[in-house]
Amino acid sequence: MLTPEIARLWLNHFAALIDDNKAHLSDLDTPIGDADHGNNMARGMVALTEALQAKPDLDLAGVFKASAMALISKVGGASGPLYGTAFLEMAKTAKNSADLPTLLDAALAGVIKRGGAEVGDKTMVDAWTPLVKATHDGTLSQAVIDEAVASTEPLVAKKGRAAYLGERGIGHRDPGAESTGYLFKALLETEGT
Ligand code: ADP
Ligand code: MG
Ligand code: MG
Repeated sequence: MLTPEIARLWLNHFAALIDDNKAHLSDLDTPIGDADHGNNMARGMVALTEALQAKPDLDLAGVFKASAMALISKVGGASGPLYGTAFLEMAKTAKNSADLPTLLDAALAGVIKRGGAEVGDKTMVDAWTPLVKATHDGTLSQAVIDEAVASTEPLVAKKGRAAYLGERGIGHRDPGAESTGYLFKALLETEGT
């Protein structure tokens, strides 16, 4: 069962991984996008950590709601509303459940509803989908994360900026899948999740 304290540790660790890998994420976004994914996410994560720090007494739903609002208000670009929606749906679900796989189901459903992408479209959905499943199955590992993220490399993008490139995007890893990999890596590395 996720507590507000553990959720904070998880999200702050995610923020640190994004900051450490900001340049790498923008590099991935260079050949198939507009080279800003790392900067977009890092800006959002600064807002997220500040929002959480300013409100030390939030319940679980409040932690996710404050995180969502920070991302939605501070990140221009596709990734802000997508991660923002994921956290907003977790906030709604957290009113009734503190079960992590249940919360992640809601997050993924939110990303799919908001962006309209399916598995195979070369987006963050290709990482979210198997990784949420792995949390249900108790099989989440760094190898599973690496495989999920790498699965976007051979695909032709159907959504997002990379879709403009068509087959020229083949061989490039989706940056949003990589950042989603960090969300789950943070989960793996946060004790108590
Ligand atoms: P932008 O493309 O607006 O510059 P970012 O670079 O921050 O925004 O984020 C790009 C990432 O967003 C992509 O790598 C992809 O994973 C994700 N993405 C874009 N459009 C969609 C969509 N419709 N559904 C799911 N994910 C998407
Ligand atoms: Mg971009
Ligand atoms: Mg952009």
